[in-house]
Amino acid sequence: MTDWIAEERKYLFQNYGRQPVVLVRGEGTRAWDREGKEYLDFVGGLAVNALGHASPVVSEALAQQSRQLIHTSNLYYTTPMVELAKLLVENSCLDRAFFCNSGAEAVETAIKLARRWGLDTRGGAFEIIAMQDGFHGRTTGALAATGNARYREPFEPLAPGFAHVPWNDLDAIRAATGPRTVAVLLEPIQGEGGVNVPAPGFLQGVRDWCTRNNLLLILDEVQTGIGRTGTLWAYQQEGIEPDIMCVAKALSGGVPIGAVLAREEIAAHLVPGDHGSTFGANPLAAAAGVATLRHILDHGLPARAARASERLVARLRSLEDRLPVVTEVRGRGLLLAVAFSRDIAAEVVSACRERGLLANGVRPNAIRLMPPLTVTDDEIDRACDILEQAIAAVTGVPG
Ligand SMILES: *Cc1c(COP(=O)(O)O)cnc(C)c1O
Repeated sequence: MTDWIAEERKYLFQNYGRQPVVLVRGEGTRAWDREGKEYLDFVGGLAVNALGHASPVVSEALAQQSRQLIHTSNLYYTTPMVELAKLLVENSCLDRAFFCNSGAEAVETAIKLARRWGLDTRGGAFEIIAMQDGFHGRTTGALAATGNARYREPFEPLAPGFAHVPWNDLDAIRAATGPRTVAVLLEPIQGEGGVNVPAPGFLQGVRDWCTRNNLLLILDEVQTGIGRTGTLWAYQQEGIEPDIMCVAKALSGGVPIGAVLAREEIAAHLVPGDHGSTFGANPLAAAAGVATLRHILDHGLPARAARASERLVARLRSLEDRLPVVTEVRGRGLLLAVAFSRDIAAEVVSACRERGLLANGVRPNAIRLMPPLTVTDDEIDRACDILEQAIAAVTGVPG
């Protein structure tokens, strides 16, 4: 039998710390490894698999589209991209869409769009204020925006023109704003940074500051979008509207895609020749996006995620009573973190995995849960039972 883990170590770049599991199949919230062991997947491909594994919604759309047209380039018009753009525009506060292939590319596009707008309307203003602990992707521009020195420093010098200020600190944004500032870029909830929820009024304050100073508000909803937090977009729970928004991860139900949405008068500043992508708006990815988004909207899955979240949060909060090492449950919708008083996240993740639950160590002292929007009550209960046993085993508390 092939030792796939040994072969991976031989043939691939060793830039990931993978869990020692070879997943071969999935269905809904469940996944199976090569030995046939079953897991409850509460990672969901990093908040990507909104409809779970092997959703017929996605696989049928892919099968149908793949028999029609897989790729054309943007030299031509195709129909899935128009359908997907229309769905995104009609279900958001923004007017136009651009398609690319990942979250990082969506952020790159937003940066270029903001700078182009700054050149045309703000006398060449180009600086972007981003957040400490913010995450925007690994390409050099998105990395320059990312507020984690550990990710940035080995690859410097990066693109200039980014300032990083503490999360939830409106005064710091005010102080960092200068005549060359063009935009504020942030996630409505910091995902990779540890599932950090904005303080009440913080995003509203950022919106007001941007409006008053003619700055663009760029929201990175790559992780929070597509129903994850209990509404289609996280900004809807904050009483604000962005000028530019980045989308990716769950948009096509597991097929690579990214998108930038913008207000019409801002989008108009990118003209032919300014930007593009060979695979962007690819018919296969766009058709998967149309099917995924339609299904999410037609079946009210954001509201379903909000209801599932209530059950999951209540169960997780109850751990705080029984397991003193659990200090906090934070997040919104089905983007949640459980924090510990010690750096035991890696051990808890391993103990969960051994017991059949996939969870993600988002910080040394916190795990992150992002199950599909379709997760059932029974799956939530089973996952919480496993998590409790795993934490008890790691900390030596009788479980
Ligand atoms: C995952 C993520 C990205 C990067 O997306 P990739 O598809 O990995 O390039 C950007 N921003 C946020 C908020 C993310 O969570």
